[in-house]
Amino acid sequence: MNLEQIRHDLHRMAEPSNREARTRAYIEEVLTTLSPTRIHTIEGTHHLVAEYDFGDGPVTLVRGDFDAVRVDETLALPYHSDTPGVSHKCGHDGHTTILLGLAERLMRQPLSEGKVLLFFQGAEETGEGAAQLLASGFLDHHKPDRVFALHNIPGIPLGTVICRPGSFTCSVVSCDIELHGKTSHAAEPLKALSPYPAAKTLTDEILSLCQHDMLRDDYRIATLIEFRVGEPAYGVTAGHAVLRFTIRAKNDALLQETKAAIEELAASLAQRDGLQHLVTWKEYFAASNNHPDIVGQLQEVCTKLHYPYVTKETPFSWGEDFGLLTQHFPGALFGLGSGEQQPPLHHPDFDFPDALIPKGIDLFYQLITEHHLPHQV
Ligand SMILES: [Zn+2]
Ligand SMILES: [Zn+2]
Repeated sequence: MNLEQIRHDLHRMAEPSNREARTRAYIEEVLTTLSPTRIHTIEGTHHLVAEYDFGDGPVTLVRGDFDAVRVDETLALPYHSDTPGVSHKCGHDGHTTILLGLAERLMRQPLSEGKVLLFFQGAEETGEGAAQLLASGFLDHHKPDRVFALHNIPGIPLGTVICRPGSFTCSVVSCDIELHGKTSHAAEPLKALSPYPAAKTLTDEILSLCQHDMLRDDYRIATLIEFRVGEPAYGVTAGHAVLRFTIRAKNDALLQETKAAIEELAASLAQRDGLQHLVTWKEYFAASNNHPDIVGQLQEVCTKLHYPYVTKETPFSWGEDFGLLTQHFPGALFGLGSGEQQPPLHHPDFDFPDALIPKGIDLFYQLITEHHLPHQV
C-alpha cells in the first residue's frame, strides 16, 4: 500500500467538519482491502470504526481525525486541495493515513489477543466528533480499556514525542453574548436604551478574569474575538450588542467555573441596565486528562523505538476534541513532532510531512501490543 499516495489523495479532497462524505467513502474503500473484522458506521455522522477482533483481551481505541480547516491552499503542491477555501492545514490527512497504515499492519501482523478499534473521526475542528461518538452509545457496547490519539506538532523535531500526564491540551469554549436594548432617533439618544455601557463593562470584566501564567493551576484566558454595538445606520442609536470570546482553562472544572462567572456577570449587568441578554456556548473542547500509567507506557515504548521523548511542562493552550475521550476512558493524547521548520498548524504554508507516517504507525502498533492496563482511574 502506498501510504504517501493515500496522504496526497486525502489532502486533495480536503473537506470541512461534518461534510467529509468523500473522505469517508475513500477511507472505507481503502479499509475494505485491509480485512477488518467489521466496519461500523455511526448514524448521523461521517465517522467509521474499523474493528480488528483478535479474541478476548484488552480493547484499545486509536483515533485518526480526517476533517480539514477553512484555510485557502496557497502552496503549489502537486496534490493541491481541489476545494477553494478548505485545506488540510492541521495535518489530519497525515493522522488518517497513519491510522490506515496501522490497519494494514494489524492485517499483516495480527495480535494474539484483544480488540483494536480504529476510530476514523470527522468534525474534530469544531469539537463535535468525540461527543458524537459518545452520544451514539457505540462505546457502551465496545468499551475501550485504553484510548490513544496523536497530533502532529510543528516546531518540535520530526519524530520527537511530546506528552504530559493530566492536561496536555486546555479546555476551550467559544462564547457569544447578545445584549438587546432599545433604539431611538439618533437626535434623541436619551430616549434609547443603549447596550454600550453594559457591553463595555462586561468585556472589561471578562478580560480581567485572565491569569496568564500557565505554570499555575488557575491558568485561564479570555480572548476577545468581536465587539460590535449598533448598526451602520446614522439615523438610529445603537440598540444591540454582540460580543464574542474564546475562553481557555487549564482544566475542565475551572472552565465550568469560568462559564458560570460569565453568565452571572452578563445577567447582573443586563438587569442593572434593563437589557435583554442571551449567552450562547459553542465549540467546546474538553481538556485532555492523560492517565499517568498510560503516559508511562508511552515513554517506555519511545525508549524501545529510540524515539526522543519530551515531557511538556505546561499544557498546550489550544483545545483538542480527543480530550473528551480521555475524560471518559484511560488514555493519552500525545504530540508527534512534525519538524522544527514546519509552519504552525492552520498556517497556509503547513503541509504534513510524509516522513512522519511510518513513525506514527510504529508508535501506535507498539503501544497496542503493550498489554499493561492502567490502574483504576
Ligand atoms: Zn486544527
Ligand atoms: Zn488538528
